[in-house]
Amino acid sequence: MENYCISCGMHLQNEEDIAAKHEKGFLCKFCVNEEGNPKSCQEVFEGGVHFFMNSVSDIDRDLAERITRKNMKSLPLWQGVDEDCLKGETATEEEFKSALDKLNQEIEAGNIEM
Ligand SMILES: [Zn+2]
Repeated sequence: MENYCISCGMHLQNEEDIAAKHEKGFLCKFCVNEEGNPKSCQEVFEGGVHFFMNSVSDIDRDLAERITRKNMKSLPLWQGVDEDCLKGETATEEEFKSALDKLNQEIEAGNIEM
């Protein structure tokens, strides 16, 4: 089985990428705070927005927010939660796929340290 972070969706390829175990699955090192607790929806959301803006060229704040929202809403940790940062517009399938394709290209080119 392939592991991924239930909060941000990051693939957890190595044991050391897993920072915490949650009743719903694993959390990556970016999604837990110093006490080892899951970061808040707002913190994970902001982190995701910055990640997309910094990693993929031609993504503005608005698109980065919509992509992050769509991503988080598909992940186990955020199912059925009532959080303000998850309310609002989400990216379309095309926008989402296009952003992930560009992200994967950047990762393959070695431009992003995961
Ligand atoms: Zn994560």
